Amino acid sequence: MKKHNFYAGPSILSPYTIKNTADAVLDFANTGLSILEVSHRSKEFQAVMDEAQALVKELLDVPAGYHVLFLGGGASLQFAMVPYNLLKTKAAYLDTGVWAHKAIKEAKLFGDVDVVASSEDKNYNYIPKNFVVPTDADYFHYTTNNTIYGTEIRKDPDVNVRLVADMSSDIFSRRVDVSKYDLIYAGAQKNLAPAGATIIIVNEDALGHVDRPIPTMLNYKTHCDKGSMFNTPPVLPIFSALQTLKYYKEVGGVDELEKRDLAKAAKLYEAIDGSRIFEATVPDHADRSIMNVCFVMKPEYAELEKAFLDFTATKGIVGIKGHRSVGGFRASLYNALPMESVDVLVNAMKEFAEKA
Ligand SMILES: *Cc1c(COP(=O)(O)O)cnc(C)c1O
Repeated sequence: MKKHNFYAGPSILSPYTIKNTADAVLDFANTGLSILEVSHRSKEFQAVMDEAQALVKELLDVPAGYHVLFLGGGASLQFAMVPYNLLKTKAAYLDTGVWAHKAIKEAKLFGDVDVVASSEDKNYNYIPKNFVVPTDADYFHYTTNNTIYGTEIRKDPDVNVRLVADMSSDIFSRRVDVSKYDLIYAGAQKNLAPAGATIIIVNEDALGHVDRPIPTMLNYKTHCDKGSMFNTPPVLPIFSALQTLKYYKEVGGVDELEKRDLAKAAKLYEAIDGSRIFEATVPDHADRSIMNVCFVMKPEYAELEKAFLDFTATKGIVGIKGHRSVGGFRASLYNALPMESVDVLVNAMKEFAEKA
């Protein structure tokens, strides 16, 4: 049976990415070698790295003076690398959930952290508004999309300090004004590639201002100076990322991806809001993520949760069990997920509700 993959991450990749990666595992760029066994210093892999960096710059309109890096360690390593490299005395953070919280915890190892606002009081089901970022902060850090709670900030904020964003779960789902940011990072496994690479877009001007010694591998400058090839980069995830980037360009870039993502999310939220038995966990429509749609059974139908999960499984639907801290269901609608899968889910919800 055809599977409909709603996993939150690692998550669905385009058939183009999967096919080309599978082919390269057998024969990479007509080298007669597998991508798994080729030197990262070979000219064939250098071409992959060069093209992947160039395509990120093209798709996101990255200004001159910025570097694109593909590093290991996941987005979670960035929670520490960001303050290690950028925090002199104080940084400002927005607390919108587990990932933001983890970033805050690491930053506290390096200086003062001003948490400008938090939505913890309502289990992070909204985006705090009207917060003030202190002008003496070294930077302001926020999470664009809160993967676990299904909230999202889709507008680049205006702040008077350096801006840093964790875009792990919504990068390439909209046009971003990169010039407003000094650093953007994203684990590849949500909208780009298999796990193992983290994409970092960093403004050269933001580096070199802290006095503390930084270990070589944790210093962005090391990787900028070496074109993300200081040590062995995650070769396979970068190859797959390149396939996804080519596919993104082919379909029309981030504007087209955003159009598709908006349409998918609108259809699913409409089905939830119009349902007798389901309800969305994020009440304010403006705060709702178009990447991760979180919903639950209305209280009077709460006991049907397991039955609904079992029912969706018979339709080939995979990965919609909600995160344990929210419960219910979470349908991740990343770029590679086709509208057809949303239709299957929406129809399953309707069919189930008729019998409930
Ligand atoms: C998944 C995720 C992370 C963690 O990424 P790792 O690569 O596993 O470290 C961090 N932030 C956000 C927003 C995420 O969705």
